[in-house]
Amino acid sequence: MTVKQPMPGELEPIETASRDEISALQLERMKWSLKHAYDNVAHYRKKFDDHGVHPDDLKTLADLGKFPFTTKSDLRDTYPFGMFAVPRSQVARVHASSGTTGKPIVAGYTRKDIDTWAHLMARSIRAAGGRAGDTCHISYGYGLFTGGLGAHYGAERLGCMVVPMSGGQTEKQVQLIQDFRPEIIMVTPSYSLVIAEEFERLGVKPEDISLKIALLGAEPWGHGMRDEIERKLGIDAINIYGLTEVMGPGVASECIESKDGPVIWEDHFYPEIIDPETGQVVPDGEEGELVFTSLSKEAAPVIRYRTRDLTRLLPPTSRSLRRMDRITGRTDDMLIVRGVNVFPSVIEEQILRDKRLAGTYQIRLTREGHLDSVEVLCELQREFSNRLSPLELQAISAELQHRIKTIAGISTGVSVMAHESIARTLTGKARRVVDERPKQQ
Ligand code: ADP
Repeated sequence: MTVKQPMPGELEPIETASRDEISALQLERMKWSLKHAYDNVAHYRKKFDDHGVHPDDLKTLADLGKFPFTTKSDLRDTYPFGMFAVPRSQVARVHASSGTTGKPIVAGYTRKDIDTWAHLMARSIRAAGGRAGDTCHISYGYGLFTGGLGAHYGAERLGCMVVPMSGGQTEKQVQLIQDFRPEIIMVTPSYSLVIAEEFERLGVKPEDISLKIALLGAEPWGHGMRDEIERKLGIDAINIYGLTEVMGPGVASECIESKDGPVIWEDHFYPEIIDPETGQVVPDGEEGELVFTSLSKEAAPVIRYRTRDLTRLLPPTSRSLRRMDRITGRTDDMLIVRGVNVFPSVIEEQILRDKRLAGTYQIRLTREGHLDSVEVLCELQREFSNRLSPLELQAISAELQHRIKTIAGISTGVSVMAHESIARTLTGKARRVVDERPKQQ
């Protein structure tokens, strides 16, 4: 593995700017963003008014603390387009991510937003060591999920030849990697290991695989997994972070020369860490919930958006912009299954749509090989218990499986059991989620 240092002139001025220059730009953009949200989104205007604050109250970056937070429920309540700050005619694209109910969270982009995103993804790939002329294989899913198209536009912007493979079809992925010989792959960490294993199965040695860099994100992963991916594919594994509500992948991304946590592209997203209980901002270096304010987004600005991700802000190293530590957990019950966000409440909703099923259920997560596996156990209502034929039970299970796949976007096993067969805890409640996947170090 050869670590590429950026050549003089390769970095953008903001990547080497002084803290004063960065803060000045952030303040100017933050004033614009608060005013833009207040003037054009009724929901923000009402929230600011109810909170007794006005965009003019922001004189310094620290004044941001006076403004109210935005949460997933704000986005849910205004579904689908209520948080847009521009007329629909100016929205060039939408993406969506899972919400806490069957309705997704919608993100909108103007042409300029798409352009900024492509720019920041290109910056991320360059920080990872990618260069114009490289071939970039994209195994993130294309579609409403931000991964595929976000990566695609960024790689094109950098000047790569892009292979828009999307997810799945592991044998084909490997065949194309062998035939097209890409230097870069963008994929979830867990799926990169599935690809690595297919290479192993074929007897291809890491040094014979063309890939040099992987940009990996969309789910938590740790040092142990980084070592394994690097060893099995013979590459540098780089951590990229993002979320749909704020933009998509490329909100922060790691530099190959230091590999010490994603650099937050602070010229477009202002980060804060708060105590999730009190909402108070904590100093850099302390762990808490990551909160973002968009500084340039036109279609769907976010003001103090609570990501629910737990991490720390770290001082700059390879760039002048601050870094974030890896995500150590979440403050809500969101599960990430094969890179897809899943809220137990969405699965519950689907179970309860079948009147024969009781509200007691259990979602069991295990890892088979490198991929997450999900089994949903549910119970029949007492009056249906032991009254249904095996065929009827099978039909209930198949239907539920289909609904979960359609609404939550994940494949699960479903077992329909007799009333009161799921073990209760001492308080009488069933444990809703049993996560037996190995913890990432
Ligand atoms: P993405 O395309 O990044 O998965 P989503 O909106 O679907 O976007 O999911 C965002 C969530 O995914 C984040 O809030 C975080 O919990 C998780 N996530 C994304 N990237 C990473 C990463 N590099 N490390 C850990 N978790 C991540």
